Amino acid sequence: YFKKNFGQNFLIDSNILDRIADCAGVTSEDCVLEVGPGIGSLTQVLAERAGSVTAVEIDSNLIPILAKTLADYDNIEVLNQDILKTDIDAIIHEKNQDRPIKVVANLPYYITTPIIMDLLENERKVDSITVMVQKEVAERMQAGPGDKEYGALSIAVQYYCDAHLDMIVPPSCFMPRPKVASAVITLKVLPQRKVAAKDEKMLFHIVKCAFGQRRKTLLNCLYNQGGLNLSKEELAEVLTSLGFDERIRGEALSIEDFARLSDALSQKTQ
Ligand code: SAM
Repeated sequence: YFKKNFGQNFLIDSNILDRIADCAGVTSEDCVLEVGPGIGSLTQVLAERAGSVTAVEIDSNLIPILAKTLADYDNIEVLNQDILKTDIDAIIHEKNQDRPIKVVANLPYYITTPIIMDLLENERKVDSITVMVQKEVAERMQAGPGDKEYGALSIAVQYYCDAHLDMIVPPSCFMPRPKVASAVITLKVLPQRKVAAKDEKMLFHIVKCAFGQRRKTLLNCLYNQGGLNLSKEELAEVLTSLGFDERIRGEALSIEDFARLSDALSQKTQ
């Protein structure tokens, strides 16, 4: 019955459902976007507290079940579509103009990174994101320079948000049980960036480049994959002018460092 390829691990612990809604701080002022309502267990808890809930579910077999489990609520809209092909801004803002938008979901794990990256890098107008993810992914979101989980996801999350790990959830709370532990994490989107790069496209381009080939030096990554039209000498010069060793690797740079490097490279390539 469960569709493995849709990442279907349904929550069967009602206590956890309430706690997710608590962590998201959902109130009657809020409009909630739920990704993957499944059979509607979390959706009901959210609808009890929120002004409105828009739930996007890819699996058409679940739509008649959702119609039954959610029949008593008049503030839920279920859309049968793929969240990765959905114009998120259009669906949440159409009816809910100035209300705070909260994303709350027990995410299908295979799309965690693309959905979070989409929400952040395209600056969807959401106020917070409270999601169940694999524990290891939650750790990646919070990792800093030198940590083994530090990477492009850590930087995207911390550039746009304050991240808070809410709780660890064991496999026994799901049906079927996933192989690894999960975690609920809340990302509060910052009204203003703590660090700002002049050209964010350049920033995320070099971040992806730097972590694309972890074992290589940042200089080699930028030279081989950067497409910046600069010679190796010119790139080395930019690095040393910012006080970096030529042999430094991307994993040693903080977000501030990447922002400085991005600014210097945008200036040099203009
Ligand atoms: N919310 C339910 C719960 O907590 O019990 C189900 C969570 S289950 C981990 C993930 C849900 O996301 C499944 O219902 C699955 O069919 C749905 N899903 C998977 N890929 C999706 C996609 N690309 N777009 C929308 N929903 C998707």
